[in-house]
Amino acid sequence: MTEPHETGQEVSLSALCGRQIAEHLFLGLPYEACGVLRGKATAGGMRIDTFVPMRNVAPDPLHRFVLHPEDWIRECLRGDDLIGLFHSHPHSLPVPSEEDLQQLPLFADLLRVYMIGSPDEANEKVQLNGYSILKGMDGLHTLQPAIVKHG
Ligand SMILES: [Zn+2]
Repeated sequence: MTEPHETGQEVSLSALCGRQIAEHLFLGLPYEACGVLRGKATAGGMRIDTFVPMRNVAPDPLHRFVLHPEDWIRECLRGDDLIGLFHSHPHSLPVPSEEDLQQLPLFADLLRVYMIGSPDEANEKVQLNGYSILKGMDGLHTLQPAIVKHG
């Protein structure tokens, strides 16, 4: 691993949250699963303690996700601890796709964490990657890999 510049922020995930994400991901197969993450900022990054599963209403849920607007609006109005977005890549690695980056401006101002999970079906686990959502001087958002801690 060569990371000569800054190291990523830490995203810590409660054990319960990790289990709920895995459950939602596997239940959704073969389609992409999605939901939001609630939590708070900490000294070194962020702490996530709630996962709220959402319906994926994409016309092609095998390869895309679109949050159900009712679910999304309800969560936006529920409090100020909305911190991130999760979705799964059932058939590819948990790294942002071209399409994910194109969709990013839809949520980026509201959120700080972007998580993607892929199923590791052999041992029923999820490979989970986390990214910090950063906004550049040019107003454009980027995703910087974060360090995901469990427990
Ligand atoms: Zn994606």
